[in-house]
Amino acid sequence: MKIICIGLNYRGHIVEMESSVPDVPVFFLKPDTAILRENRPLFYPDFTNRLEYETELVLRISRLGRSISPKFASRYFTEIGIGLDMTARDLQKAHRSKGLPWEVAKSFDNAAPLSREFIPVSEISDLKNIEFGLDINGTTVQHGNSADMIFGFDEIISYVSKFITLKIGDLIFTGTPPGVGPVHVGDKLRAYIGNKTLLELEVK
Ligand code: MG
Repeated sequence: MKIICIGLNYRGHIVEMESSVPDVPVFFLKPDTAILRENRPLFYPDFTNRLEYETELVLRISRLGRSISPKFASRYFTEIGIGLDMTARDLQKAHRSKGLPWEVAKSFDNAAPLSREFIPVSEISDLKNIEFGLDINGTTVQHGNSADMIFGFDEIISYVSKFITLKIGDLIFTGTPPGVGPVHVGDKLRAYIGNKTLLELEVK
């Protein structure tokens, strides 16, 4: 399986990244070795001094498809979870400034903590109004709503599937709202959709 991540999908985050609004969804991939499951601890990697969280709604692909029209895209996922697009921001900045690819900053082992539980789409009343967020040590540090996405789920699936066949079990991280920031050893992270806690982990 593969993990497809959408970048620059919330205006507030684009501002904090000093970037500009893209014309089409921007995506990159993480390998399956990036997934950190079951609330296992996240060990702070020794190659970065600035590890940041990006809290994102995650679609799990439930059907094989390619060149999917936006009209039919909602048939290709049945569950939504939450994930953290962990980013070695110092490495990303260094690579960006040289115009180099920055996979190294986002694709490393355990760079994609994933909720144990996913919520069936049938239990979500409005896909365009999903509240989600992240607390660190009991304080909310990031909060978003799918209403604020520049490219919605259907547009993302349609666009990505023009280039890459989507397979059952693939994950799509749909972008982070504003409020990204660092984690430190000892932090306890809790990510949620609505009032449902889906992911809890400690940084060690
Ligand atoms: Mg991200």
